[in-house]
Amino acid sequence: MPSQREDCLFCDIVHEGTYVAKTKGFVAINDINPKAQTHILIIPERHVESFREIGEFHAWELKRMMEFIAETARDAGLTDYQVQTNVGRSAGQTIHHLHWHVLGDVASHLDVSRPLTAVSEL
Ligand code: 5GP
Ligand code: ZN
Repeated sequence: MPSQREDCLFCDIVHEGTYVAKTKGFVAINDINPKAQTHILIIPERHVESFREIGEFHAWELKRMMEFIAETARDAGLTDYQVQTNVGRSAGQTIHHLHWHVLGDVASHLDVSRPLTAVSEL
């Protein structure tokens, strides 16, 4: 199985070099059409079509990939966030090269040190 596929946007992007972060075998980029204040894509350099083919990764690659998602979210200032991957066209996958969406809102505008005001007090 070739590691890079022709006519794959993410195969091109992972070799372009405009990353938020990079680790061995994986890159993180900002989504071009963000659906949250912070919307990062974690992409393996190797072309694997989707989560369906997750068995194509070695165990150490899976561990590194999961750790890299958490590290990238942390470095982006996120504490609470969603990690999502769409599997297949009808599930919303538009780029058929596995990627993880990290979606979150940096909490700096929220005063999390104060307890929430009860609705009846408003
Ligand atoms: P999917 O729909 O396959 O789960 O996610 C594909 C994501 O890639 C979408 O959120 C879309 O906005 C993003 N995207 C599509 N083209 C580009 C691009 O050229 N550059 C970047 N950075 N993101 C892209
Ligand atoms: Zn690809």
